[in-house]
Amino acid sequence: MAALRPPRLDAAADEVAGVAAAAPDWDTLAAVARSCVACPELAATRQHVVVGDLPASGAARFVLLGEAPGANEDETGRPFVGRSGALLDQLLGEAGLDRAEGAVLNIVKCRPPGNRTPTSPEVARCSGWLRRQLELLDARVVVALGLSAAKWFLGPRTVLGQVRGRPHLLDGRTVWATYHPSAAIRFGPKGAPRAGLLADLTAVAGSLS
Ligand code: SF4
Repeated sequence: MAALRPPRLDAAADEVAGVAAAAPDWDTLAAVARSCVACPELAATRQHVVVGDLPASGAARFVLLGEAPGANEDETGRPFVGRSGALLDQLLGEAGLDRAEGAVLNIVKCRPPGNRTPTSPEVARCSGWLRRQLELLDARVVVALGLSAAKWFLGPRTVLGQVRGRPHLLDGRTVWATYHPSAAIRFGPKGAPRAGLLADLTAVAGSLS
């Protein structure tokens, strides 16, 4: 069985990881994460720390993991609520998955200004929250949406086209890597990312049934 390969820790990341590891439950973690200032630029510019969505039952059949909040997510405090979220909801439905049964998370909980890609230190710092979230959820099936999420699990040299479409067993979890909905929007309704995302979500649904 392979092991997770998230980014290495720095001092601030170490501190986040320690605080996150001490959180006994989701609500405690969420409350502490909402006041996190480990990434000074993001903490100064965000409106919300987007901790993530849990199913009402508290038990997630699967986890959807994106990269970072965008403008709509930053404004509302919820993940995947903009155009990407709408397309994700549509494709989940077509695949036979119900978003309400899953947890929805991002690697980085605060919006990078201008929607830039999160830096490696930002990813490393926020990884402490994510690691603990995955533990608390006891997440057995994770769908990594986009290259950043795929790299978090599979390592920095990951090529999405080479790893998508099949399950990866990592630390007792099944991880699927696929396109981010924003890529499906960018390449249009007939583009390969949309078809690939739908095919991968359908495969995940099949594995859960
Ligand atoms: S991105 Fe994560 S680690 Fe950085 S300030 Fe926000 S919650 Fe903290």
